[in-house]
Amino acid sequence: MSELIPKPKTKFYRLKCPGCGNEQNVFSAASSKVRCLVCNTELAATSASKIKLKTKILKEHD
Ligand SMILES: [Zn+2]
Repeated sequence: MSELIPKPKTKFYRLKCPGCGNEQNVFSAASSKVRCLVCNTELAATSASKIKLKTKILKEHD
């Protein structure tokens, strides 16, 4: 028997830039806006404690 224990929600997301197709890793608790390193498109904005993604997550990893 096991209980589900919530894990801390800090992860990295692998995002793909909708503008240029560049893939980059974004920390889920990033404290500032995240922009594409190639074309400067905004990929995520921050809210209270977690980021708001503006593009699809390709992959999540801890
Ligand atoms: Zn880009």
